[in-house]
Amino acid sequence: MNFVDYLNALHPAVLLTAVFVFGLLVGSFLNVVILRLPKRLMHDWRCQCRELLGMEGGDEPEPPGLVVKRSHCPDCGATIRARDNIPVLSWLLLRGRCRDCGTRISFRYPLVELATALLSVAVIWHFGISPEGLGALVLTWALIAATGIDFDHQLLPDQITLPLMWLGLFLNLWLGLFASLEEAVIGALAGYLTLWSVFHLFKLITGKEGMGYGDFKLLAALGAWLGWHVLPLIILLAALVGTVVGVALMILARHGRNVPIAFGPYLAAAGWIALIWGDRIVDFWLYL
Ligand SMILES: [Zn+2]
Repeated sequence: MNFVDYLNALHPAVLLTAVFVFGLLVGSFLNVVILRLPKRLMHDWRCQCRELLGMEGGDEPEPPGLVVKRSHCPDCGATIRARDNIPVLSWLLLRGRCRDCGTRISFRYPLVELATALLSVAVIWHFGISPEGLGALVLTWALIAATGIDFDHQLLPDQITLPLMWLGLFLNLWLGLFASLEEAVIGALAGYLTLWSVFHLFKLITGKEGMGYGDFKLLAALGAWLGWHVLPLIILLAALVGTVVGVALMILARHGRNVPIAFGPYLAAAGWIALIWGDRIVDFWLYL
């Protein structure tokens, strides 16, 4: 009996609890990625710009890396103790405040941890411990990180979208994990070109930029993972959810109509739904 058989032979409740706890830990790491990756990217861009323009004074300190440095309170700078770094639980015990200075710690941190844990459980519930399940976990985690960063900065880093696309192509080449290689390659191409065309058409008509290049790359990645046949579903779902949330924001928060709303989170959510229920939804569609 190998390790995978052993895991699958566990009682589902035990397996899913283990996945939940593991998901919390991964969520804790995703929080770090969401917080630190954009800071590092912007630091690099500023340095490159100064170098290109021949400007002096580029001695700003380098932001911390993703793995090595311990987390700090954003306000008082105190290092967060190991016992205060337990996902969700520490936040609840400390009632969302820093132990040292009492500053509020954003609700976002436990939310990302909880969401990562629950989505990981849903993935393993659906696929089991299998190549599909493990692949789907990686895709889910990448989508969560991309969503958080796009939400904060209206930015989908190439450092996430491009490796994700290549990984999707590779897994489908190697194992035909979610699509044939042909479907995956056409998916990547069509994903990029569809939004690229929409972007340029929209710009031609309105003179405005409706989304960013990161959105094209994210849809290309989803096409590479899931194949071209789920792209119409993803675009439809993303547009639907995006319209509902966008209109709600405009009404509730008086969000100006010209304030850019990140499209990435909707694409990511739609992509995840397509990952889990895509085939069933497409079948139902064809049946109708
Ligand atoms: Zn503090």
